[in-house]
Amino acid sequence: MNNLKRAPKRENEEEVVEKDNHSDMATSAAMDGVAAAALRSVLHRVNQAAERSGRVAHPIRVVAVSKTKPVSVIRQVYDAGHRCFGENYVQELIEKAPQLTEDIEWHFIGNLQSNKVKMLLTGVPNLAMVETVDDEKIANQLDRFVGSIGRKPLKVLVQVNTSGEESKSGVEPSGCVELAKHVSLGCPNLEFCGLMTIGMLDYTSTPENFKTLANCRSEVCKALGIAEEQCELSMGMSGDFELAIEMGSTNVRIGSTIFGAREYPKKQS
Ligand SMILES: *Cc1c(COP(=O)(O)O)cnc(C)c1O
Repeated sequence: MNNLKRAPKRENEEEVVEKDNHSDMATSAAMDGVAAAALRSVLHRVNQAAERSGRVAHPIRVVAVSKTKPVSVIRQVYDAGHRCFGENYVQELIEKAPQLTEDIEWHFIGNLQSNKVKMLLTGVPNLAMVETVDDEKIANQLDRFVGSIGRKPLKVLVQVNTSGEESKSGVEPSGCVELAKHVSLGCPNLEFCGLMTIGMLDYTSTPENFKTLANCRSEVCKALGIAEEQCELSMGMSGDFELAIEMGSTNVRIGSTIFGAREYPKKQS
């Protein structure tokens, strides 16, 4: 999953003829640019954290969170071999996805409104996962629409509010078993894959948030009669992904450390 090698050249790229004696490393670094170098550094840190926690056998997925970033920069990271990207806003994702190749695995990680489900699923045929299912209504909506367009089952995670902040979406930890059961047993077109959480508002999750999500997994696995390996944990962002991996994360969502700080347009006054 974490492919450290360079992707093969795309057909429309010019061959670089190495007439001089630049080293391969220097040439490739200059061509790849900043985001690709940052990706490699992140993948290295992910592998090291996995090693520290004795989890090398279980690959950890890195979702490169590209919200607010232009397609050209996403392509740079794609060309460095990465295939898994995450976006928060339906409108932004359906504009970007068609400009990129279909072998990208898109993860939707934002708050999903029922009236955007159709747009999301028709606009992004290669949508791989929705990480943010937080009530039965949105699960049902996704299930029905996936069934109606006859695409393969959609992978989903149940989002849990582990920080107790009212501003956060996600089901309360006490409600995660019921929702996981509903998705798993009542939504034939969805594939229940595990649990997701966002930590505290400043994006530095405290270990308690991660512990809470791991506890939720134990309960869900017991209730569904599945092994813990069959229930992913999506936790950890730029500020805390190594800690999250050490605490059992299988899916980290990393934006600014790969793509640089996000700039939001200033509101006109
Ligand atoms: C923006 C975002 C991220 C990435 O945050 P960084 O701190 O930039 O890595 C991860 N998860 C969710 C849900 C986000 O909205």
